[in-house]
Amino acid sequence: MTDGLSECGSVPIGLCTWGIYMQGFVTFSRNVFIPLTRVCRNSCAYCGFKCEVHEEGALLDEQSVVRLLERGAVSSCTEALFTFGEQPWKVEGFEDKLEEIGFDSFIDYLMHSSRKAIEIGLLPHTNAGVLSFSDLQRLKSVSASMGLMLETTANLNSHSDSPGKDPVERLRFIEAAGRLKIPFTTGILIGIGESISDRIDSLEAIARIHRRFGHIQEVIIQNFSPKPGTGMSRCQPPSTSTMLDVVSLARRILPADVAVQVAPNLIDPKFLVGHGASDLGGISTVTIDHINPEAPWPKIDELARAIGVPLRERLPIYPKYVMDSWYSDEIKPLIEMLSDREGFRKV
Ligand code: SF4
Repeated sequence: MTDGLSECGSVPIGLCTWGIYMQGFVTFSRNVFIPLTRVCRNSCAYCGFKCEVHEEGALLDEQSVVRLLERGAVSSCTEALFTFGEQPWKVEGFEDKLEEIGFDSFIDYLMHSSRKAIEIGLLPHTNAGVLSFSDLQRLKSVSASMGLMLETTANLNSHSDSPGKDPVERLRFIEAAGRLKIPFTTGILIGIGESISDRIDSLEAIARIHRRFGHIQEVIIQNFSPKPGTGMSRCQPPSTSTMLDVVSLARRILPADVAVQVAPNLIDPKFLVGHGASDLGGISTVTIDHINPEAPWPKIDELARAIGVPLRERLPIYPKYVMDSWYSDEIKPLIEMLSDREGFRKV
């Protein structure tokens, strides 16, 4: 994690024209990670998350979901991060599994689980993969924010068995979220076979959509991290200097009101912050990062010391969308209870 850092470590505060030094702090949210199902219609070559229908953890039952939510609430989290495989109902055997826990539609189960989260005091942020417009519309009412990684606009070998990774379909989905005024998180994945110009194309595509709809609150610049037993287990992750370049690129290409996010459990954020990263995403004190289980979360108080910049806690919905009331009536009382006068988390 230290390669390429020495020359960047001397970037003085004030020379960076974007990001943290414009606002004086770095943001994050406190979340509990709920892997509602690991079943997925796709098979990405780098995935260590997906599992088969018969495996343990393939589908969390309601009791397990509630237990996680309650642990999150007592640990002062504000975000219930629902993350799962894409369109699991397209996988044989999944619907029988769903029936065993009393549901005949996965979206109904997700709506039900999101309402449980709200009842317990957590704001749902849902990464649901590509959905129909009507499902997206339904989920808006119970979600503070939603997300879908664009990953890349290129057609890559690592996605050759993943119909849901069609960039056209993903861009269309991100636009649909904009039409519905859903505060939205997207991002690009670095090191999965894309070229530098693919990265530029991807960031420009996100910037264009945001200029039309104004709903992109953050763009994650996520480094690929190889997982044992996957098709890309022997591939090299991107170097820190590559990540520095991409974060700088993102900051230059994206509109100023879109935050650049990096994952502090996957890469040391200290120098990325100096290059324009202004958000560290959801950090959990309760659950592991189920997508990258090998990468533990840093302790929040140690993080602030390590990056040398104050941290400020936000909700899963960014402050400007709180201030502009981009949320449903169903979620409004909880947002009002959890946010301060500037739309950050009330302390
Ligand atoms: S879409 Fe996500 S869960 Fe599904 S195979 Fe790809 S990385 Fe894994």
